[in-house]
Amino acid sequence: MQTQKSRPARTAYDNARPHDTPIDRVLHRLDRVKRTAPDKWIARCPAHDDKRPSLSIREAEDHKVLLKCWAGCGAFEIVAALGLNLGDLFPGDCRSLHQHGTGPMRRPFDYRDALQGIAHETLVARLIIETVNSGQEMDVESLDRLALAEQRISDALQAAGGVQ
Ligand SMILES: [Zn+2]
Repeated sequence: MQTQKSRPARTAYDNARPHDTPIDRVLHRLDRVKRTAPDKWIARCPAHDDKRPSLSIREAEDHKVLLKCWAGCGAFEIVAALGLNLGDLFPGDCRSLHQHGTGPMRRPFDYRDALQGIAHETLVARLIIETVNSGQEMDVESLDRLALAEQRISDALQAAGGVQ
């Protein structure tokens, strides 16, 4: 009678947290990633020549990844530049793709979108101020970036109908 050899024991890493969540996939491929909140990051946008952090990344409660480039790159261009496809932003299947994307019925002005843009620009300004506060000198790039923030917020205001 032969003793049955047991299979090699599963090692600890089999039980480790799954590493292949959409947010991991995206963050590992991005450059100059900075976490700004438990579920939010900013990074350089891979889809344009981005010397400044124009890309905001958010992980939704359902683990879907939301990407927004404030210079105007589309989610498709961004994931393509990362060597991913839109389905990689979603856990499991990609059914929710239909809610995302570039539908033909775009509202002329989206207040939520504009407020998110202002929030992003304010965040960029905060990060620059933190850098200066830590004793580093304000460089030209940061000054330009602050000017761009002001410009983008003014543009949002114009798009909303300007000052009354
Ligand atoms: Zn971009």
